[in-house]
Amino acid sequence: MQDIIVVGAGLAGLTAARTLSRAGRRVRVLEGSGEVGGRVRSRLQNGFTLDAGYQVLFTGYPAVRRQLNLDALDLVTTLPAAVIRNGKSAQQLGDPFRDPGSLPGSLTASALSLGDKLRVARLALSLKIGPAHALLLGPDESTLDFLRGLGFSSRAIQNFFAPFFGGVFLNRSLSTSARLFRYYFRMLLGGDIVLPRAGMGQVSKQLAEGLNVSLNVRVERLVQTERGVELVTNIGELEAEQVIVATDPPTAARLLGEALPGLESVPSSYLYYASETVIDTQPRLLLNAQGGLINNAQWLGRAVPGRAPKGQDLLVVSVPGPHVQTDAELETGVRAELAGWYGEAAAHLKLLGLERIAHAQFAQPPGYAARLPGHATALPGVLRASEITSMSGIQGAMESGEKAAAIVLNDPVGMSRPRGG
Ligand SMILES: Cc1cc2nc3c(=O)[nH]c(=O)nc-3n(C[C@H](O)[C@H](O)[C@H](O)COP(=O)(O)OP(=O)(O)OC[C@H]3O[C@@H](n4cnc5c(N)ncnc54)[C@H](O)[C@@H]3O)c2cc1C
Repeated sequence: MQDIIVVGAGLAGLTAARTLSRAGRRVRVLEGSGEVGGRVRSRLQNGFTLDAGYQVLFTGYPAVRRQLNLDALDLVTTLPAAVIRNGKSAQQLGDPFRDPGSLPGSLTASALSLGDKLRVARLALSLKIGPAHALLLGPDESTLDFLRGLGFSSRAIQNFFAPFFGGVFLNRSLSTSARLFRYYFRMLLGGDIVLPRAGMGQVSKQLAEGLNVSLNVRVERLVQTERGVELVTNIGELEAEQVIVATDPPTAARLLGEALPGLESVPSSYLYYASETVIDTQPRLLLNAQGGLINNAQWLGRAVPGRAPKGQDLLVVSVPGPHVQTDAELETGVRAELAGWYGEAAAHLKLLGLERIAHAQFAQPPGYAARLPGHATALPGVLRASEITSMSGIQGAMESGEKAAAIVLNDPVGMSRPRGG
């Protein structure tokens, strides 16, 4: 019998297994798919490195700093700036201290009024005070109401906040919790936005190093026994003294026989395009201020050298939300919007792939934190590790893995660490 079995090799499961294994515990990870990483994966296609959707790593995340050897990830720091696309118009806005090249554009950009630019600076200063995790506490409201309360204009909200944080939370309406908005803003202020040259999957691979992971083992059912927990899988029955369920939230809900009301899945789609001709030389994040299908896009071949083969570029387009269109209709719609940006040059874009992700994140409206399930489950000997215990994202998943391991190890420091800390 294995001491501890972790179900799911996403960031939460890998972090839990790694923490336990480092503490000398015997751990086996069962992963239903053929690779580790869960949502944080990459694949090679025709010489292009494609992540599962558009993803980035914030070095400001406390759990990332604790768990990852960032130096070993061959990271490329992206410019802390964005380009507001409004049809053919492109205005650059950025942090002039970290991206001096964006200063002239930032000063003259009409996408934000002078008052809005000063409000951004004031907000940034106020969010730097105190510990980051404290930003997840206090009264909650929607991000939109919070921004309006600070006096931001509709122009600033439509041109910048909606597409930028719509990309972070996969929700352009800014109905996400303002607590989370403040926390993520702080993460952006306190670190860099980076991408491993060889793909985000490198993060998962690093976490999985040295662990006992069995791929293609799908857990179908959990049964309590006298000695521990029996796991019914596609390769037969296994037994463990303790089990940590670290699957995606919908699967965990099924395995644990529970419902998660108010924390529904947020879907998102991504299109990957190759181009052999130079269509845009802009490496910064592109935000669609006009609305439509595209929320944000980035020429990743330019932003992260090595992601595209020599002489080619890679454009990744994010289309958050549920879509009733077929893949072909979605692609036609996205291409039409890109033609609005780039004119006839958009015809040179060659579709490499279209990926629909049913559970990209879970919904996080104001007050969502009160509905989060904890690590305990109704099954004795079974704990949960997942973003769903904290917040939807890399920090949430990794800190949840750490916390589940701390409970197994009875480690008071790990158990008492606050959410987001
Ligand atoms: C496109 C996209 C972009 C994102 N961008 C960012 C970003 O930029 N920054 C950020 O912080 N976060 C981002 N996120 C969110 C972040 O990736 C997730 O919050 C995090 O990876 C969740 O990790 P997890 O371990 O909780 O779950 P998962 O990654 O879902 O891992 C669950 C694992 O369990 C396995 N599994 C499921 N069922 C079974 C079973 N029955 N038996 C065995 N194994 C099973 C799955 O195969 C999977 O490997 C993004 C997510 C997506 C989809």
